[in-house]
Amino acid sequence: MQKILIANRGEIALRIVRACRELGIKTLAVYSEADVESLHVQLADEAICIGPAPSSDSYLKADRILSAAELADVDAIHPGYGFLSENADFAEQCESCNIRFIGPKSSSIRMMGDKAVAKDTVKKAGVPVVEGSDGPVTTEAEAVKTAKSIGYPVIIKAVAGGGGRGMRIAHNDVSFAKEFHTARNEAEKAFGNGAVYVEKYIQNPRHIEFQILADSHGKTLHLGERDCSVQRRHQKLIEEAPSPFVTPDLRKRMGRAAIKAAVAAKYENAGTIEFIVDEKGNYFFLEMNTRIQVEHPVTEEVTGIDLIKEQIRIAAGEKLNLEQKRITFTRHAIECRINAEDPARNFTPCPGLIDLYYAPGGHGVRVDSHVYGGYAIPPHYDSMIGKLIAYASTRDLALDRMYRALSEYIIRGIKTTIPLHRAIVSDPIFREGKATTAFVAEFLSRNPGELK
Ligand code: ADP
Ligand code: ADP
Ligand code: MG
Repeated sequence: MQKILIANRGEIALRIVRACRELGIKTLAVYSEADVESLHVQLADEAICIGPAPSSDSYLKADRILSAAELADVDAIHPGYGFLSENADFAEQCESCNIRFIGPKSSSIRMMGDKAVAKDTVKKAGVPVVEGSDGPVTTEAEAVKTAKSIGYPVIIKAVAGGGGRGMRIAHNDVSFAKEFHTARNEAEKAFGNGAVYVEKYIQNPRHIEFQILADSHGKTLHLGERDCSVQRRHQKLIEEAPSPFVTPDLRKRMGRAAIKAAVAAKYENAGTIEFIVDEKGNYFFLEMNTRIQVEHPVTEEVTGIDLIKEQIRIAAGEKLNLEQKRITFTRHAIECRINAEDPARNFTPCPGLIDLYYAPGGHGVRVDSHVYGGYAIPPHYDSMIGKLIAYASTRDLALDRMYRALSEYIIRGIKTTIPLHRAIVSDPIFREGKATTAFVAEFLSRNPGELK
């Protein structure tokens, strides 16, 4: 491969530029008018503006991106995460233009992109799934019947959902009827597909996901788990590997199940199998993300494997030069998502000018971010502006290091999640490795003053 178009922005675009540089591959950045000053545009070898600020006029415009690809004569497109990364039609268009899509085949994206079909597929392959409706539920009567037979509480989810959106919890028949209609309307608006399914709402679970790598020669491996239980509104805030909850035996069983699920999807490239794990250690498939994940660096720092480079090599048709037995997890890594948000005001986005910026460094610290002093965060996109990763030989040392790095981090001019992360990283429940997906809400009610 000689040249790659990066169909994304922000930190992930920069991450891909960096991997390409090290591989000796040229990069083409495509960008919106709001991103002229972004670091990925400045560091790419070439850059083409594809439209105005709103993503619907730029980063989601498949035809403009493909025209840029033709014009600059690229060999492949890396879609990053979000935007077109899980759009099967876009992957198909790339395939038909003879441009490699750095990701799975469009058929795998389509299959796993419908969360009800995905559950059904992996269930048939013998992977445990969360108890729920067989496929989407269409009428209220049918939905209530399903909810009753599962037993409350239940969660109503959009089949096309993602990014923590389009989910509703119901505790009884009355609230269920209301939430069912709200969920359908929201799903229609957010994803252009109103189909929803129902599943058991598992209380105080952990979110534990497995990183998969699969080549086009039939080899499928897992790179261990990430614990992403620290979430606000079903969105991840902190991720770590290994999970303090997962024993070597559970890792083996979940890893095998994750590989089974990926094989059932005829999966190629990097992907993630998400599980929800109950208090007893029973695990259930939740969904598959058919793309690189935001939190991929924790896996990289624990295994020493560069996931973006592996994605590029796999897309080029190379064989995986890795063996399951040789993949070891001897370090601990943790990632804090740095969002331009005000945690004290219900995490409202806080775009604006960063007038002073100083990123932490030193032994065992990694910062993946496209921002710098003097950079203005545009209001049009996701509020995540960077990721701080700390790693060390043990979990305790990694947490101490994370606290130290968070204390050095200066982002002046806007509100960020840094103070919240400092408070969480020093919280006894989190430090003991006992956080479930209910942790953040409980923490905030315990520490209302921590967020100022
Ligand atoms: P990860 O699973 O990698 O942790 P997130 O759930 O945080 O990823 O999503 C990554 C990015 O992709 C976010 O910007 C999120 O808003 C976006 N995203 C994910 N799925 C969808 C979807 N179905 N529709 C729109 N945006 C999505
Ligand atoms: P998305 O596609 O938006 O990422 P997921 O299906 O991965 O949606 O769910 C996101 C989060 O929502 C999970 O990590 C978990 O915290 C919560 N969640 C989803 N399904 C359930 C469930 N059945 N029981 C409890 N929590 C759930
Ligand atoms: Mg998910």
